[in-house]
Amino acid sequence: MTEAFFKSRCLICFKSFEVPKIGCVTYDSSLFYDKTRKLFGHFTWDNKKEINDLIGDFLSLNPKAQEKIDETKGIVVRQLVAFIADGDWEPILGFNRCPRCGIKLNSVSNKMITFKEIEELTFKNIFSLKREQQLQTLFEKTKNGL
Ligand SMILES: [Zn+2]
Repeated sequence: MTEAFFKSRCLICFKSFEVPKIGCVTYDSSLFYDKTRKLFGHFTWDNKKEINDLIGDFLSLNPKAQEKIDETKGIVVRQLVAFIADGDWEPILGFNRCPRCGIKLNSVSNKMITFKEIEELTFKNIFSLKREQQLQTLFEKTKNGL
């Protein structure tokens, strides 16, 4: 998917960087950020039955997370998607993480800089496991809270 990238500046260390804007991303697609590779990615719910089923199974075993989903209107689901994707993803929920200092407090200008291709999240690792291990992975990653 190609996205428009805008000029952004960290309000803590003043580093300039480029970010796609959440509002500009195609409907039904969410933006993610890989904290290790410092790359953007996206995820859409189209044809994701396998992922739907896994998250559904996890939630049915985890009433606390289920409650949180009702409160946060999908933020928790996006966090779960980040946990099961290949890589070190986090959902972008407002501010972007600064590639230099790592703090999420940036300004974004209306000045479009460029178009860039952003990758789609993949889920090869999690689906190479058995169902119990998949659920175990989710329990491990969520044990300190969502
Ligand atoms: Zn910074």
